[in-house]
Amino acid sequence: MNRRSLLAAMALSLLVGAAMPAFAENSGTQASASYAQAADSYSFPLGDIEIIALSDGTVPQDLHKLLTRTSPSEVDALLDRSFLANPVEASINVYLLRDGERRILVDTGSGSLFGPGFGGKLRDSLASVGVKPEDITDILITHIHTDHTGGLVDSGKPAFANATVHVGAPDLDFFLTPANAQRTGYDRRYFDEAEKTIGVLAKAGKVKTFAENETILPGIVGNLHPGHTPGSAFFTVSNKGQSIVFVGDTIHVESVQFPKPTITIVYDVDPDQAAAVREKMFPSFADTRQLIAAPHLQFPGVGHIRAEGNGSYSWHPVEYRNRGGAAGQQSD
Ligand SMILES: [Zn+2]
Repeated sequence: MNRRSLLAAMALSLLVGAAMPAFAENSGTQASASYAQAADSYSFPLGDIEIIALSDGTVPQDLHKLLTRTSPSEVDALLDRSFLANPVEASINVYLLRDGERRILVDTGSGSLFGPGFGGKLRDSLASVGVKPEDITDILITHIHTDHTGGLVDSGKPAFANATVHVGAPDLDFFLTPANAQRTGYDRRYFDEAEKTIGVLAKAGKVKTFAENETILPGIVGNLHPGHTPGSAFFTVSNKGQSIVFVGDTIHVESVQFPKPTITIVYDVDPDQAAAVREKMFPSFADTRQLIAAPHLQFPGVGHIRAEGNGSYSWHPVEYRNRGGAAGQQSD
């Protein structure tokens, strides 16, 4: 079996946003085809806040199986325009905000729930920027899927001992009520994994929910955009006239869903609503030249959206900066 067919076989089981059991069976094979990188981070200022994108790793994605409201040939054609071919690799990005005394994470990656070799690099990435798990004061969860909440626990215990976890109220209600699996037909594994991750924090009294347009922390507002999950949230962080919006899983695959925002993914609880969020928010982000960050766009997943006409968009990552002096500030 060559590398391509090996990857394709592995990608049969799902990945980002998905549950673990099918995935674990393949993890031993993947170790032989290693694409491992050193702990990765990308830092930039937003006013007085320092934002650091941290890589939790990447996972392969078979888009022929995962994307819906499209066809394999359409997906292949869109990938080809970006010099890519199915399966593609999805990043799992986590963001750290250093804001005064606060150390805030946006999402926590997959922890150990995807098995060895897949995700779970957040701890190393944090260490590489000199931050210990106990330094984290707050965690903003974009939504309750394993690749965002898996890192909340370490061997079944809270991984960030001093952190308060903030999550949209509808997601906590939905995923910690297993009866919703029967009611909606949404995969039961998401509910089981929620119990093992954010459920542990909820039992420990560490979870605070927020409602639509609530100020969660000074300068940080949560907005609910149900679709991908019932409580999927955007976090708008503002400081000194600058802002960034953390958009969670509004977008999974840049080379496909920016040109065609109507294309959905099997992880969406409500695909109609998920597509509607893109069709509503992409033009707004493009018009206002809003800086955004997304967990599954290629690391660091920070950039801008441009309108290309006819309901089509393109993604423009921020420029790379790596030099001395105050992080990213203009030097004299
Ligand atoms: Zn995700």
